[in-house]
Amino acid sequence: MPRSFVHEARRRVGPKRTRIGPIVERLAAEHADAKIALDFRNPVELLISVMLSAQTTDVNVNRVTEHLFAKYRRPEDYLAVPVEELERDVYATGFYRQKTKSIRGAMRVLLDEFGGEVPRTIDELLGLPGVARKTANVVASELGNPQGVVVDTHVRRLSQRLGLTRQEDPVKIERDLVKLVPRADWGRFPHLLIWHGRRVCDARRPRCEDCVLNDLCPSARVWTAPADGGRIGAPPT
Ligand code: SF4
Repeated sequence: MPRSFVHEARRRVGPKRTRIGPIVERLAAEHADAKIALDFRNPVELLISVMLSAQTTDVNVNRVTEHLFAKYRRPEDYLAVPVEELERDVYATGFYRQKTKSIRGAMRVLLDEFGGEVPRTIDELLGLPGVARKTANVVASELGNPQGVVVDTHVRRLSQRLGLTRQEDPVKIERDLVKLVPRADWGRFPHLLIWHGRRVCDARRPRCEDCVLNDLCPSARVWTAPADGGRIGAPPT
């Protein structure tokens, strides 16, 4: 995109600090059903689902955990079977050896240090084997204690398109978002972006003409100007 157009687009939509409120409001109205797509019934199942979701789809994880959670009900159950049996049970999610090792390690620490319960803080979650920042963020957020903004591929793409960050690295993107998004919205904001990304702002074919954020987005390919009703074509981002 020509530099002059980028400047013009940013000037047109205004600063991100004034846009973030309407962006959250409109997305919340548009995607009132936005929530985590993983199926779980308790914090241990949540933790295991998120650990299994690395490098695969939520649909695939749900297919596997439907059987897994019927068989393994408590943390100690994951340690009571031979490693190979648990590997077979999570095989279809990919990276099954590493995931089995991480799950068993995490369940061991839950039992030894947390009385079999899933801890609520990011630091405690990061102390569990195989739990990286994104997993810790998702779990803490779903347990009602968001301490950051989860950044996945959709959150990254939409944050960049909406001009909320210029960073590429997820950790730096999160740093930008926590400064910008009101703390009360840290939990739901990623879900809103993820669902908007899936339904409207597709990676290859964003449907800008149908997007509720059209007039707030510097990357809109077709801009509907609310003031005069006019439309201008814009080069693709
Ligand atoms: S206007 Fe287009 S690029 Fe911007 S958020 Fe909407 S669909 Fe995505």
